[in-house]
Amino acid sequence: MVVVMLPSATENQRKEVEKEIHKLGRKSSTMYGDDCNVVGIIGDETGIDFEKLSMMEGVDYAHPIQKEVKYPLVSRNIGSNRLLQDRIIEIGDENIGKSYIGGENPIYFIGPCSVESEDQMKEIAELASELNEEKSSQYGIRGGCYKPRTGAHGFEGLKKEGLEILGRIREEFKLPIITEVRSEKTANLVAEISDILQVGARNSYNQDLLFKLGDIGKPVLYKRGFGMNIEDWLRGSGHIIKGGNGKNNGRDIIYCERGETPMGGDEKFLRYPSQMQVGSVLKYETYLPVIFDPSHSAGKSNLIWDSSMGAMSMGYDGLLIEVHPDPKNAITDAKQQIKPKEFRDLVKVCDELYSIGHISSKNRRDKHFEDLGYKFIN
Ligand code: PEP
Ligand code: MN
Repeated sequence: MVVVMLPSATENQRKEVEKEIHKLGRKSSTMYGDDCNVVGIIGDETGIDFEKLSMMEGVDYAHPIQKEVKYPLVSRNIGSNRLLQDRIIEIGDENIGKSYIGGENPIYFIGPCSVESEDQMKEIAELASELNEEKSSQYGIRGGCYKPRTGAHGFEGLKKEGLEILGRIREEFKLPIITEVRSEKTANLVAEISDILQVGARNSYNQDLLFKLGDIGKPVLYKRGFGMNIEDWLRGSGHIIKGGNGKNNGRDIIYCERGETPMGGDEKFLRYPSQMQVGSVLKYETYLPVIFDPSHSAGKSNLIWDSSMGAMSMGYDGLLIEVHPDPKNAITDAKQQIKPKEFRDLVKVCDELYSIGHISSKNRRDKHFEDLGYKFIN
Protein backbone atom coordinates (compact mmCIF):
# COMPACT_ATOMS: atom_id res chain seq x y z
CA MET A 1 0.00 0.00 0.00
CA VAL A 2 1.18 3.51 -0.66
CA VAL A 3 -0.03 6.60 1.16
CA VAL A 4 0.22 9.64 -1.07
CA MET A 5 0.53 12.90 0.90
CA LEU A 6 -1.04 16.17 -0.26
CA PRO A 7 1.35 18.79 -1.67
CA SER A 8 0.38 20.92 1.35
CA ALA A 9 1.08 18.17 3.91
CA THR A 10 3.49 19.01 6.72
CA GLU A 11 6.41 16.84 7.88
CA ASN A 12 4.50 16.22 11.14
CA GLN A 13 1.48 14.90 9.26
CA ARG A 14 3.78 12.56 7.31
CA LYS A 15 5.28 11.31 10.59
CA GLU A 16 1.80 10.69 12.01
CA VAL A 17 1.07 8.47 9.01
CA GLU A 18 4.30 6.56 9.63
CA LYS A 19 3.40 6.13 13.30
CA GLU A 20 0.03 4.70 12.33
CA ILE A 21 1.73 2.21 9.99
CA HIS A 22 4.20 1.17 12.71
CA LYS A 23 1.32 0.70 15.14
CA LEU A 24 -0.02 -1.91 12.67
CA GLY A 25 3.28 -3.80 12.95
CA ARG A 26 4.54 -2.81 9.48
CA LYS A 27 7.64 -0.90 8.40
CA SER A 28 7.52 2.18 6.20
CA SER A 29 9.69 3.98 3.72
CA THR A 30 9.13 7.45 2.31
CA MET A 31 9.85 8.62 -1.22
CA TYR A 32 10.35 12.39 -1.23
CA GLY A 33 9.04 13.88 -4.47
CA ASP A 34 9.14 17.35 -5.98
CA ASP A 35 5.40 17.91 -5.59
CA CYS A 36 4.38 15.47 -2.89
CA ASN A 37 5.76 12.70 -0.70
CA VAL A 38 4.70 9.05 -0.79
CA VAL A 39 4.83 6.78 2.27
CA GLY A 40 5.14 3.12 1.30
CA ILE A 41 4.14 0.26 3.61
CA ILE A 42 6.57 -2.64 3.66
CA GLY A 43 5.16 -6.12 4.25
CA ASP A 44 1.83 -7.86 3.92
CA GLU A 45 -1.11 -5.54 3.33
CA THR A 46 -3.80 -7.93 4.50
CA GLY A 47 -5.92 -6.42 7.24
CA ILE A 48 -4.75 -2.84 6.71
CA ASP A 49 -7.58 -0.33 6.81
CA PHE A 50 -6.63 1.95 3.98
CA GLU A 51 -9.81 3.97 4.27
CA LYS A 52 -8.73 5.01 7.73
CA LEU A 53 -5.27 5.96 6.47
CA SER A 54 -6.71 7.94 3.58
CA MET A 55 -8.73 10.05 6.04
CA MET A 56 -5.70 11.16 8.09
CA GLU A 57 -4.64 14.81 8.06
CA GLY A 58 -2.45 15.67 5.09
CA VAL A 59 -3.22 12.46 3.16
CA ASP A 60 -4.40 12.70 -0.43
CA TYR A 61 -5.18 8.99 -0.90
CA ALA A 62 -4.05 5.52 0.13
CA HIS A 63 -3.82 2.72 -2.39
CA PRO A 64 -3.07 -1.01 -2.15
CA ILE A 65 -0.17 -2.38 -4.19
CA GLN A 66 -1.08 -6.05 -3.97
CA LYS A 67 -3.59 -7.05 -6.63
CA GLU A 68 -7.11 -6.81 -5.29
CA VAL A 69 -8.79 -10.22 -5.39
CA LYS A 70 -12.55 -10.16 -5.05
CA TYR A 71 -12.77 -13.88 -4.32
CA PRO A 72 -10.11 -14.51 -1.66
CA LEU A 73 -11.81 -17.68 -0.35
CA VAL A 74 -11.38 -19.49 -3.65
CA SER A 75 -8.35 -17.73 -5.09
CA ARG A 76 -5.27 -19.79 -5.84
CA ASN A 77 -3.14 -16.80 -4.90
CA ILE A 78 -2.97 -16.37 -1.15
CA GLY A 79 -0.59 -13.40 -1.18
CA SER A 80 3.16 -13.05 -0.64
CA ASN A 81 3.88 -14.97 -3.85
CA ARG A 82 2.28 -18.17 -2.56
CA LEU A 83 -0.19 -20.25 -4.53
CA LEU A 84 -2.37 -23.13 -3.42
CA GLN A 85 -1.83 -26.47 -5.16
CA ASP A 86 -4.76 -28.03 -7.03
CA ARG A 87 -7.20 -29.41 -4.51
CA ILE A 88 -8.28 -33.00 -4.96
CA ILE A 89 -11.80 -33.48 -3.65
CA GLU A 90 -12.72 -36.74 -2.00
CA ILE A 91 -16.28 -38.02 -2.35
CA GLY A 92 -18.02 -41.11 -0.99
CA ASP A 93 -17.47 -43.01 2.26
CA GLU A 94 -16.40 -46.38 3.69
CA ASN A 95 -19.65 -47.98 2.55
CA ILE A 96 -19.49 -47.06 -1.16
CA GLY A 97 -15.73 -46.37 -1.41
CA LYS A 98 -13.98 -43.15 -2.30
CA SER A 99 -13.61 -41.23 -5.58
CA TYR A 100 -11.29 -38.31 -6.17
CA ILE A 101 -12.03 -35.29 -8.31
CA GLY A 102 -9.20 -33.25 -9.78
CA GLY A 103 -6.47 -35.89 -9.67
CA GLU A 104 -5.05 -38.64 -11.83
CA ASN A 105 -8.38 -39.99 -13.12
CA PRO A 106 -11.39 -38.24 -14.60
CA ILE A 107 -14.86 -38.38 -13.09
CA TYR A 108 -18.01 -38.86 -15.16
CA PHE A 109 -21.41 -38.05 -13.69
CA ILE A 110 -23.92 -39.88 -15.82
CA GLY A 111 -27.66 -40.36 -15.73
CA PRO A 112 -30.91 -38.97 -17.02
CA CYS A 113 -32.05 -35.38 -16.79
CA SER A 114 -34.82 -36.45 -14.37
CA VAL A 115 -35.09 -39.56 -12.25
CA GLU A 116 -38.13 -41.24 -13.79
CA SER A 117 -38.13 -44.80 -12.42
CA GLU A 118 -36.02 -47.31 -10.53
CA ASP A 119 -35.49 -49.49 -13.62
CA GLN A 120 -34.20 -46.54 -15.58
CA MET A 121 -31.70 -45.66 -12.84
CA LYS A 122 -30.62 -49.30 -12.50
CA GLU A 123 -29.72 -49.44 -16.16
CA ILE A 124 -27.43 -46.42 -15.76
CA ALA A 125 -25.92 -47.77 -12.54
CA GLU A 126 -25.22 -51.12 -14.20
CA LEU A 127 -23.34 -49.33 -16.96
CA ALA A 128 -21.34 -47.31 -14.41
CA SER A 129 -20.49 -50.45 -12.41
CA GLU A 130 -19.29 -52.28 -15.51
CA LEU A 131 -17.13 -49.35 -16.52
CA ASN A 132 -15.78 -49.08 -12.98
CA GLU A 133 -14.57 -52.67 -13.25
CA GLU A 134 -12.97 -52.14 -16.64
CA LYS A 135 -11.38 -48.72 -16.28
CA SER A 136 -9.51 -46.44 -13.95
CA SER A 137 -11.93 -43.57 -14.60
CA GLN A 138 -14.58 -42.91 -11.96
CA TYR A 139 -18.36 -42.70 -12.16
CA GLY A 140 -21.13 -40.99 -10.24
CA ILE A 141 -24.85 -41.28 -10.84
CA ARG A 142 -26.86 -38.15 -11.60
CA GLY A 143 -30.59 -37.51 -11.97
CA GLY A 144 -32.82 -34.60 -11.00
CA CYS A 145 -35.50 -35.15 -8.34
CA TYR A 146 -36.43 -31.51 -7.75
CA LYS A 147 -36.33 -30.11 -11.27
CA PRO A 148 -35.97 -26.36 -11.67
CA ARG A 149 -38.18 -25.36 -14.59
CA THR A 150 -38.21 -22.15 -16.57
CA GLY A 151 -41.99 -22.32 -17.05
CA ALA A 152 -44.89 -23.31 -14.82
CA HIS A 153 -46.06 -26.38 -16.72
CA GLY A 154 -43.11 -28.75 -16.89
CA PHE A 155 -42.43 -31.94 -14.93
CA GLU A 156 -40.97 -30.97 -11.58
CA GLY A 157 -39.41 -34.30 -10.73
CA LEU A 158 -40.35 -37.24 -8.52
CA LYS A 159 -39.11 -35.29 -5.50
CA LYS A 160 -38.84 -37.46 -2.36
CA GLU A 161 -39.70 -40.64 -4.27
CA GLY A 162 -36.87 -39.86 -6.69
CA LEU A 163 -34.45 -39.35 -3.81
CA GLU A 164 -35.44 -42.70 -2.36
CA ILE A 165 -34.69 -44.36 -5.70
CA LEU A 166 -31.25 -42.71 -5.73
CA GLY A 167 -30.69 -43.87 -2.14
CA ARG A 168 -31.40 -47.47 -3.08
CA ILE A 169 -29.17 -47.24 -6.17
CA ARG A 170 -26.35 -45.89 -3.98
CA GLU A 171 -26.68 -48.80 -1.57
CA GLU A 172 -27.05 -51.52 -4.17
CA PHE A 173 -24.36 -50.39 -6.60
CA LYS A 174 -22.00 -48.58 -4.22
CA LEU A 175 -21.80 -45.57 -6.48
CA PRO A 176 -21.73 -41.90 -5.47
CA ILE A 177 -24.83 -39.82 -6.18
CA ILE A 178 -25.15 -36.26 -7.37
CA THR A 179 -28.50 -34.48 -7.54
CA GLU A 180 -29.68 -30.90 -7.55
CA VAL A 181 -30.80 -29.00 -4.47
CA ARG A 182 -33.47 -26.63 -5.70
CA SER A 183 -34.22 -24.94 -2.42
CA GLU A 184 -33.02 -24.58 1.16
CA LYS A 185 -36.25 -26.25 2.27
CA THR A 186 -35.24 -29.63 0.87
CA ALA A 187 -31.47 -29.26 1.24
CA ASN A 188 -31.14 -31.45 4.36
CA LEU A 189 -33.29 -34.16 2.81
CA VAL A 190 -31.19 -34.22 -0.37
CA ALA A 191 -27.99 -34.21 1.70
CA GLU A 192 -29.07 -37.40 3.51
CA ILE A 193 -28.74 -39.27 0.21
CA SER A 194 -26.57 -37.31 -2.17
CA ASP A 195 -22.77 -37.39 -2.00
CA ILE A 196 -22.55 -34.14 -3.94
CA LEU A 197 -25.05 -31.29 -3.74
CA GLN A 198 -25.67 -29.67 -7.11
CA VAL A 199 -26.48 -25.97 -7.50
CA GLY A 200 -28.26 -25.47 -10.82
CA ALA A 201 -27.73 -22.61 -13.23
CA ARG A 202 -31.01 -20.98 -12.19
CA ASN A 203 -29.92 -20.89 -8.56
CA SER A 204 -26.36 -19.73 -9.10
CA TYR A 205 -27.08 -16.34 -7.48
CA ASN A 206 -29.25 -17.69 -4.66
CA GLN A 207 -27.17 -16.58 -1.71
CA ASP A 208 -29.31 -18.24 0.97
CA LEU A 209 -29.10 -21.57 -0.81
CA LEU A 210 -25.32 -21.20 -1.20
CA PHE A 211 -25.02 -20.41 2.52
CA LYS A 212 -27.17 -23.38 3.42
CA LEU A 213 -25.11 -25.80 1.35
CA GLY A 214 -21.93 -24.39 2.87
CA ASP A 215 -23.34 -25.04 6.34
CA ILE A 216 -24.22 -28.63 5.44
CA GLY A 217 -20.56 -29.08 4.54
CA LYS A 218 -20.85 -31.75 1.84
CA PRO A 219 -19.07 -31.32 -1.53
CA VAL A 220 -20.98 -28.91 -3.79
CA LEU A 221 -21.11 -28.88 -7.58
CA TYR A 222 -21.68 -25.25 -8.52
CA LYS A 223 -22.98 -24.59 -12.02
CA ARG A 224 -22.41 -21.28 -13.77
CA GLY A 225 -25.59 -19.28 -14.30
CA PHE A 226 -26.55 -18.74 -17.92
CA GLY A 227 -25.78 -15.05 -17.79
CA MET A 228 -23.13 -15.13 -15.10
CA ASN A 229 -19.67 -13.73 -15.69
CA ILE A 230 -16.57 -15.48 -14.43
CA GLU A 231 -15.96 -13.07 -11.58
CA ASP A 232 -19.49 -13.45 -10.21
CA TRP A 233 -19.15 -17.21 -10.44
CA LEU A 234 -15.95 -17.14 -8.39
CA ARG A 235 -17.40 -14.66 -5.91
CA GLY A 236 -20.60 -16.69 -5.58
CA SER A 237 -18.62 -19.78 -4.63
CA GLY A 238 -17.17 -17.83 -1.71
CA HIS A 239 -20.67 -17.87 -0.17
CA ILE A 240 -20.53 -21.67 -0.06
CA ILE A 241 -17.18 -21.68 1.69
CA LYS A 242 -18.15 -18.94 4.12
CA GLY A 243 -21.58 -20.45 4.80
CA GLY A 244 -24.44 -18.75 6.60
CA ASN A 245 -22.72 -19.32 9.93
CA GLY A 246 -19.58 -17.55 8.64
CA LYS A 247 -17.47 -20.44 9.94
CA ASN A 248 -15.63 -21.38 6.78
CA ASN A 249 -17.12 -24.78 6.19
CA GLY A 250 -14.54 -26.44 4.01
CA ARG A 251 -13.45 -26.02 0.49
CA ASP A 252 -15.04 -28.84 -1.44
CA ILE A 253 -16.45 -27.05 -4.45
CA ILE A 254 -16.49 -28.39 -7.98
CA TYR A 255 -17.32 -25.82 -10.65
CA CYS A 256 -19.40 -26.94 -13.62
CA GLU A 257 -19.47 -25.02 -16.89
CA ARG A 258 -22.72 -25.47 -18.82
CA GLY A 259 -22.88 -22.52 -21.23
CA GLU A 260 -24.79 -19.29 -21.52
CA THR A 261 -27.97 -17.94 -23.09
CA PRO A 262 -27.33 -17.64 -26.83
CA MET A 263 -27.63 -14.36 -28.67
CA GLY A 264 -29.61 -13.61 -31.78
CA GLY A 265 -31.76 -16.73 -32.04
CA ASP A 266 -28.82 -19.12 -31.98
CA GLU A 267 -30.64 -21.56 -29.69
CA LYS A 268 -31.68 -23.43 -32.81
CA PHE A 269 -28.00 -24.40 -33.18
CA LEU A 270 -26.77 -24.59 -29.58
CA ARG A 271 -28.90 -24.48 -26.44
CA TYR A 272 -26.44 -22.70 -24.16
CA PRO A 273 -23.20 -22.09 -26.09
CA SER A 274 -20.15 -22.34 -23.89
CA GLN A 275 -16.98 -20.32 -23.69
CA MET A 276 -15.10 -23.52 -22.97
CA GLN A 277 -11.94 -21.61 -22.08
CA VAL A 278 -13.52 -20.64 -18.75
CA GLY A 279 -12.30 -24.04 -17.54
CA SER A 280 -8.69 -22.97 -18.08
CA VAL A 281 -9.33 -19.55 -16.57
CA LEU A 282 -10.70 -21.15 -13.40
CA LYS A 283 -7.70 -23.44 -13.19
CA TYR A 284 -5.43 -20.40 -13.12
CA GLU A 285 -7.61 -18.40 -10.74
CA THR A 286 -8.59 -21.10 -8.26
CA TYR A 287 -7.25 -24.31 -6.79
CA LEU A 288 -10.59 -26.09 -7.18
CA PRO A 289 -11.63 -28.62 -9.84
CA VAL A 290 -13.89 -27.80 -12.77
CA ILE A 291 -15.94 -30.13 -14.93
CA PHE A 292 -17.90 -29.62 -18.14
CA ASP A 293 -21.56 -30.32 -18.95
CA PRO A 294 -21.85 -30.87 -22.70
CA SER A 295 -25.53 -31.88 -22.46
CA HIS A 296 -27.12 -28.61 -21.36
CA SER A 297 -24.58 -26.62 -23.27
CA ALA A 298 -25.01 -28.31 -26.67
CA GLY A 299 -28.65 -29.26 -26.17
CA LYS A 300 -28.49 -31.86 -28.97
CA SER A 301 -27.35 -35.45 -28.66
CA ASN A 302 -25.33 -35.37 -31.89
CA LEU A 303 -23.11 -32.58 -30.50
CA ILE A 304 -22.24 -34.25 -27.19
CA TRP A 305 -19.35 -36.29 -28.57
CA ASP A 306 -17.30 -33.37 -29.91
CA SER A 307 -17.94 -31.11 -26.91
CA SER A 308 -16.89 -33.87 -24.52
CA MET A 309 -13.68 -34.51 -26.44
CA GLY A 310 -12.93 -30.80 -26.43
CA ALA A 311 -13.37 -30.50 -22.66
CA MET A 312 -11.19 -33.49 -21.91
CA SER A 313 -8.38 -32.20 -24.12
CA MET A 314 -8.55 -28.83 -22.40
CA GLY A 315 -7.81 -30.11 -18.90
CA TYR A 316 -11.29 -30.24 -17.37
CA ASP A 317 -11.48 -32.70 -14.47
CA GLY A 318 -14.50 -34.58 -15.71
CA LEU A 319 -17.89 -34.45 -17.40
CA LEU A 320 -21.52 -34.36 -16.40
CA ILE A 321 -23.47 -36.04 -19.18
CA GLU A 322 -27.14 -36.85 -19.50
CA VAL A 323 -27.45 -40.54 -20.36
CA HIS A 324 -30.89 -42.13 -20.73
CA PRO A 325 -31.83 -45.71 -21.67
CA ASP A 326 -34.49 -44.39 -24.04
CA PRO A 327 -33.77 -40.72 -24.82
CA LYS A 328 -36.67 -40.26 -27.25
CA ASN A 329 -39.14 -40.94 -24.45
CA ALA A 330 -37.37 -38.95 -21.74
CA ILE A 331 -39.76 -36.73 -19.77
CA THR A 332 -37.31 -33.81 -19.77
CA ASP A 333 -34.45 -32.78 -22.08
CA ALA A 334 -35.13 -35.60 -24.55
CA LYS A 335 -33.13 -34.05 -27.39
CA GLN A 336 -29.82 -33.88 -25.59
CA GLN A 337 -29.57 -37.24 -23.85
CA ILE A 338 -27.39 -40.02 -25.22
CA LYS A 339 -27.83 -43.79 -24.93
CA PRO A 340 -25.69 -45.93 -22.61
CA LYS A 341 -24.03 -47.59 -25.62
CA GLU A 342 -22.90 -44.22 -26.96
CA PHE A 343 -21.52 -43.20 -23.59
CA ARG A 344 -19.58 -46.45 -23.40
CA ASP A 345 -17.87 -45.63 -26.72
CA LEU A 346 -17.35 -41.99 -25.80
CA VAL A 347 -15.67 -42.73 -22.51
CA LYS A 348 -12.89 -44.67 -24.24
CA VAL A 349 -11.93 -41.61 -26.25
CA CYS A 350 -12.42 -39.23 -23.33
CA ASP A 351 -10.19 -41.27 -21.00
CA GLU A 352 -7.37 -41.07 -23.51
CA LEU A 353 -7.81 -37.39 -24.08
CA TYR A 354 -7.89 -36.76 -20.32
CA SER A 355 -4.58 -38.49 -19.83
CA ILE A 356 -3.00 -36.13 -22.35
CA GLY A 357 -5.01 -32.95 -21.76
CA HIS A 358 -5.13 -32.94 -17.98
CA ILE A 359 -1.44 -33.57 -17.41
CA SER A 360 -0.15 -31.28 -20.12
CA SER A 361 -2.44 -28.45 -19.07
CA LYS A 362 -1.33 -28.84 -15.43
CA ASN A 363 2.37 -28.97 -16.33
CA ARG A 364 2.08 -25.88 -18.48
CA ARG A 365 0.21 -24.01 -15.73
CA ASP A 366 2.68 -24.98 -13.00
CA LYS A 367 5.57 -23.90 -15.22
CA HIS A 368 3.89 -20.58 -15.96
CA PHE A 369 3.57 -19.85 -12.24
CA GLU A 370 7.06 -21.07 -11.40
CA ASP A 371 8.57 -18.89 -14.15
CA LEU A 372 6.83 -15.93 -12.54
CA GLY A 373 8.47 -16.79 -9.21
CA TYR A 374 5.45 -18.16 -7.33
CA LYS A 375 5.75 -20.98 -4.80
CA PHE A 376 3.12 -23.71 -4.39
CA ILE A 377 1.89 -24.77 -0.97
CA ASN A 378 -0.80 -27.24 0.06
C1 PEP B 1 -29.30 -30.39 -14.55
O1 PEP B 1 -28.08 -30.63 -14.60
O2 PEP B 1 -30.13 -31.23 -14.24
C2 PEP B 1 -29.77 -29.01 -14.85
C3 PEP B 1 -31.03 -28.64 -14.62
O3 PEP B 1 -28.85 -28.23 -15.38
P1 PEP B 1 -28.73 -26.62 -15.40
O4 PEP B 1 -28.90 -26.14 -14.00
O5 PEP B 1 -27.34 -26.42 -15.93
O6 PEP B 1 -29.77 -26.11 -16.34
MN1 MN C 1 -31.47 -31.65 -18.10
